[in-house]
Amino acid sequence: MRPNIASVGSHVEQGHENAETLTPHAALIRRGVSPERTKMTLHDLEARFAGLSAAQHADFQDQHLGMVACQEALRAASRGNYGVGAVFVDPHGTVVEQGQNAVFYPHFRSDLHAEMVVMNAFEDRHPEVDTMRGYALVCSIEPCPMCFARLLAAGVQTVKFLAEDAWGGMLRHRQHLPDAWQRLEQRQAISQADVSESLRQLAADVFRLTLDLCRQKLWSR
Ligand SMILES: [Zn+2]
Repeated sequence: MRPNIASVGSHVEQGHENAETLTPHAALIRRGVSPERTKMTLHDLEARFAGLSAAQHADFQDQHLGMVACQEALRAASRGNYGVGAVFVDPHGTVVEQGQNAVFYPHFRSDLHAEMVVMNAFEDRHPEVDTMRGYALVCSIEPCPMCFARLLAAGVQTVKFLAEDAWGGMLRHRQHLPDAWQRLEQRQAISQADVSESLRQLAADVFRLTLDLCRQKLWSR
């Protein structure tokens, strides 16, 4: 039997981020949820991922890229990082970068969210590219404020995410950006990716699986 991911996630999406929001994780520890059980839960999500097929969902425009992002998210989760992945494609639709959250492993880097990892790699490897027109980034979870601003500064034309992040996502708060940043938004389209509901739910669950542990690590610093 695996921990109830949904209940953990729903708790996190309510209330304020303070010591109280860390309680569910502490409660899990007190109830004796061992790392082994956490691992089994990850295995369960990996099994769900293995059961999905890009070919089975040809009707969804972003299904293939969404699966790449989710695969990266699962790798991040297996390493003790936030379970978020991202993939970057050029104007021809070719995958040019893919990556995953790397905040805690191999060592703490507060900036290495999946979107940042992907954009850092692309900008370092392709200094000759001078326009982001036609480029698209697909991430498994709605971008946070830091990544939202980074993708605006980078000029990425299209940003798509699989699952909303009601607690940490920036999309619904973008009207509060300073004017200069709002102006950058004029050249970017951001929306939910066109993927199957089962893949969207998987993206949310991989993130939720890692959320309490990662937040506790962050808050303990
Ligand atoms: Zn972020």
